[in-house]
Amino acid sequence: MSVFFPEEEVRSVYDFPFESLTARGIRGIVFDIDNTLVPPDAPVDARCRALIQRLKTAGFRMCLVSNNKAARILPFATAVNLPYVERALKPRRYGYRKAMARMGTAPAETIAIGDQLFTDIWGANRAGMHSLLVQPMESREEIQIRLKRLLERPVLALYRRKKGAEK
Ligand SMILES: [Mg+2]
Repeated sequence: MSVFFPEEEVRSVYDFPFESLTARGIRGIVFDIDNTLVPPDAPVDARCRALIQRLKTAGFRMCLVSNNKAARILPFATAVNLPYVERALKPRRYGYRKAMARMGTAPAETIAIGDQLFTDIWGANRAGMHSLLVQPMESREEIQIRLKRLLERPVLALYRRKKGAEK
């Protein structure tokens, strides 16, 4: 089960103290888009733009990695001026490796952030990266994602119980 566990969990990327990553030697960030940075299929908004700008100023390398197609990713990536990997086949390692090549970072220096255990987090773990799980921004989702959420539930419960026991 622990292959699906994130290193940490936070409600939203907009609550996360990214600046603390630097002290941990992390300088590359792989972002999922839908339900992580913005609601599914939503364009870049002011809050997202401000976050990306702040992280660029702080010196982070970033790459957008999504299983969605270029028609979705390209306008988004253009709006925030970031490199991207479309059709990343998460949880395969392919997209994460491509992202690290773009950013020039090693797995130990890279964190992947996403809302899905069986794609974003499992993939990050397989790629040997740090991982951060966020809660999905919107519950209105496609049927196959809703099914995955049902399967995620017991795994999340295990993870949270383990986390709770560590504290
Ligand atoms: Mg997502």
